[in-house]
Amino acid sequence: MILQIDQLHALTKLSVDFDAQQCDLPREIGMLVTPIHLDAQVRKVREEVVIEGQVLAWIQMSCARCLKPHQVHLDDSFEVKYLPYPKELDSVEEIELNETDMSIIYYTGEDINLTELVREQVLLLLPVKPLCKTDCAGLCPSCGKDLNEGPCFCAKKPVDHRFAVLKDLLSSELSEKFSE
Ligand SMILES: [Zn+2]
Ligand SMILES: [Zn+2]
Repeated sequence: MILQIDQLHALTKLSVDFDAQQCDLPREIGMLVTPIHLDAQVRKVREEVVIEGQVLAWIQMSCARCLKPHQVHLDDSFEVKYLPYPKELDSVEEIELNETDMSIIYYTGEDINLTELVREQVLLLLPVKPLCKTDCAGLCPSCGKDLNEGPCFCAKKPVDHRFAVLKDLLSSELSEKFSE
């Protein structure tokens, strides 16, 4: 979705859905369960455009610990300011120093790519390490068992010793049997 800056009113309210194809999210992130919904207020003062928006979506991601697919709810607001690209580079630095609380994007053409903005917001909101639950036990690094379903044999390291002794006993018994 493209916003033509010269066609924007002083205040434009938007309520738009973006599907997975439009947003072109990297496939490895996961799969959109719902479209990405954007509610936004677009304010324009001369060449300056401020977008206050809220992004809502459900996305299926793999748990960073146990790899199980689970649904992550995205619900967050953002605020960005679009300014015409300054002709002198000095003024860019000045503006950036003065306004640190709001993301500033410089536009060079006559329009704003809203789809691109929503895509970036979603990528910012996605958890770096999505977890199916906060206390997910993950997979055993040696046998790969899902430890949420219970401990695996290799998790009982201290017991291993006794088992080893038992195993030795058993194998010596076995070899005695076989040698008979
Ligand atoms: Zn998990
Ligand atoms: Zn294991």
